Amino acid sequence: MPDRKRKPLIAGNWKMHNTIKESVDLVNAMKKDLGSPSCEVLVAPTFTSLAAVAQAAKGAPILVAAQDCCWEDKGAFTAAVSPTQIKDAGATHVIIGHSERRTIFLETDEVINRKVKAALKHSLVPVLCIGETLSEREANKTYRVLETQLEGGLKDLAAAQLSTLVIAYEPVWAIGTGKTATPEQAQDAHIFIRKKIARMYDAAFADTVRILYGGSVKADNIDTLMAQPDLDGALVGGASLKADGFLRIVNFQEVIAKA
Ligand code: PEP
Repeated sequence: MPDRKRKPLIAGNWKMHNTIKESVDLVNAMKKDLGSPSCEVLVAPTFTSLAAVAQAAKGAPILVAAQDCCWEDKGAFTAAVSPTQIKDAGATHVIIGHSERRTIFLETDEVINRKVKAALKHSLVPVLCIGETLSEREANKTYRVLETQLEGGLKDLAAAQLSTLVIAYEPVWAIGTGKTATPEQAQDAHIFIRKKIARMYDAAFADTVRILYGGSVKADNIDTLMAQPDLDGALVGGASLKADGFLRIVNFQEVIAKA
């Protein structure tokens, strides 16, 4: 495997799929053939399955994430789940600001920023999702959107607090549509994100931040995506729901990107 600056992370977002039993079966199927992966492997089950999945993943190189968290520790916040409760269930990571949370549940950058702060306060690794819609891309607003979402999501946070930060670049037009960004489009956005983080903090810090690509990642496109130097892994939706396909993504092949 060529030298990578950052350890790759392949994450599966199971969204609102699977019963508790189906979730545990999926982890067990992964464990059977996972071996010792060269990247970090993360799965994000729905809240009801979180504790059972964390239990099933124990002893295996499988990390567990919640798909969202509340910004408060406890209290009268019906249906919300706090970072403390997420940790209690055995998870170590939390996805924040997924485009489905932004568009369906109308989460703003301000709310997302409060969630990132809450996750960090409780030592959960935040996986902050950002990305432009198709109309924003077509209107040449991609960079502006990424910039706004980074500034908003990371507002008032210092680099020293963000040592675990993971960013997921997920163009909304590529999520669940079968339309993957080309490796070059993804690399271009990742470079922009890294440069923006360097401007917000400094280049040395930006160099340590893992930036995942998400949007119709599959077994047959992961290798060329991961050949791009600024892609540090993937956030995978649909293709993470079957153990064999997801494991092929986890075991992506190192290929040299075409110049
Ligand atoms: C996602 O849910 O973050 C995602 C990228 O979904 P899909 O892989 O199905 O496009």
